[in-house]
Amino acid sequence: MFTMGEYYKQECMKAQAELAMLYEIGNAMRTTLNLEEILYIILTAATAHVGLSFNRAMLFLVNEKENQLEGKMGIGPDSAEDADKVWSHIERHKLGFEELIETHSKFEHLKKSQLDKIVKSIKIPITKDSGIIALTVIQGISFVINTGKTQETKTEFTEPLNLEEFVTVPLKARDKVIGVILADNRFTNKPITNDDIRMLTMFANQAGLAIENSRLYERTLVLSNSDSLTGLWNHGYFQYLLDNEIKKTSKEKLFFSILMIDIDDFKIFNDTYGHQAGDAILKNISNIFREVSRKIDIVARYGGEEFAIILPNTKKEEAVVLAERLRKSVKENQESLKNITISIGITSFPKEGEGKELLISKADRALYEAKRAGKDRVCV
Ligand code: GH3
Ligand code: MG
Ligand code: MG
Repeated sequence: MFTMGEYYKQECMKAQAELAMLYEIGNAMRTTLNLEEILYIILTAATAHVGLSFNRAMLFLVNEKENQLEGKMGIGPDSAEDADKVWSHIERHKLGFEELIETHSKFEHLKKSQLDKIVKSIKIPITKDSGIIALTVIQGISFVINTGKTQETKTEFTEPLNLEEFVTVPLKARDKVIGVILADNRFTNKPITNDDIRMLTMFANQAGLAIENSRLYERTLVLSNSDSLTGLWNHGYFQYLLDNEIKKTSKEKLFFSILMIDIDDFKIFNDTYGHQAGDAILKNISNIFREVSRKIDIVARYGGEEFAIILPNTKKEEAVVLAERLRKSVKENQESLKNITISIGITSFPKEGEGKELLISKADRALYEAKRAGKDRVCV
């Protein structure tokens, strides 16, 4: 039996340890503004074995536009065998939180676990009848669920995720619920205590703010690197991305191509229809470039009515095919583009030139050739 004094001393030490851990996690979250890394730190913390020690943790974020929750990341072993390996490693080395983040990176397969794959595929409408994860958002409170005990709390995800007893807590940022953490002890079957829930809730408030900050930062970054008229990447960011592409491609001994695109006789168009009509053309043509190009292509507004597209992993011959497709799409969209045509110059890396300046000037020269040869064409 404890005496009263011993009891308070114990409680005091526990509170101190909890605070120290929250402080440590807070520090880790401040080291990055990258959303993926933040989510990774949050889930590592929830399964950290110091303070919070759930077996598995999963994170869902609210997509306001679609009014749904989207699974973003799941951390935890797929099998009891995996679990043993990870935990005995942690025990043996008496790892602190910081080392733990590194350990998880070492167990690379955890990041690509079955659990993570399943979580990433989950989309849940935010309505009252979509189950407990949605309800956590709607009501903004935590739930502890035991699917064995109550039939109603089963959701379509209890089976693929093997959920038995689990806890959900809302992630809050300035009174708004932006997501949910779901955690359980699937392998140790340790019952979830009030202390666990209290700690996870405290932690979730901190995590919610970190996520919101990182999302604001990423949104600002995108906006400041975009062209306001067309929404394409702006000139400065194009230069930065091109530098990156050159470095990456050189290292991996691969190749890429660049398209330089210029609208034909655009001055005449402006003089005839006015600059506002000209701006509408720039917008419409940008949409076509976005639609026709591939997901991996980098589309930028290079200057006034000039555009540049980086085509990663693309040889010159393939670049010609894509350029022709762009040129034809512009001609096929005559209602929105009023007989506008484009000329395109192509150059490839590393064949043509190794440096950025040389590459751009070669693409420019090819573009000039296309103009000289009569416009509305592609030149290499
Ligand atoms: P070419 O076929 O040789 O390219 O002839 P061009 O008239 O298109 O010549 P150039 O490429 O030099 O065209 C530049 C013109 O593009 C000047 C300007 O009227 C127009 N332009 C550039 N930026 C904008 C813009 O933001 N909005 C509008 N409406 N027009 C622009
Ligand atoms: Mg021009
Ligand atoms: Mg032009």
